[in-house]
Amino acid sequence: MPKRPCLRCGRLTTNPSRCDVHQREWEQGRQRARDAVRGSASQRGYDTQYRRVRSQVLKGWRSQHGEWCPGWGVPAHASADLTVDHVIPLSAGGTNRRENLRVLCRSCNSSRGSRPDGIQAV
Ligand SMILES: [Zn+2]
Ligand SMILES: [Zn+2]
Repeated sequence: MPKRPCLRCGRLTTNPSRCDVHQREWEQGRQRARDAVRGSASQRGYDTQYRRVRSQVLKGWRSQHGEWCPGWGVPAHASADLTVDHVIPLSAGGTNRRENLRVLCRSCNSSRGSRPDGIQAV
């Protein structure tokens, strides 16, 4: 079998294109690239799913209550800027599932911040 120079180091090898060392390195690199693609794809899927749930929550709320914020630390009030809030914050182990989501306007949502329920801003 004729020897060919390795594409990386030029050392003669009986492998088709790379010496043993660089063949292994190349395969590991390909594996890492595949893992990276899989990771970002599942991350994308998760985001897409959350966006869908979030818009369902908003749509359901609007069909029942209209542009109306239930209030957080303030009385319920009309609002054209409704957002979806996590009942248990993600940072406290909450999920993006529907049962952990509720509607608050942007201003109530941001005054709530990541405080747990029941501890309201003074
Ligand atoms: Zn080589
Ligand atoms: Zn509000």
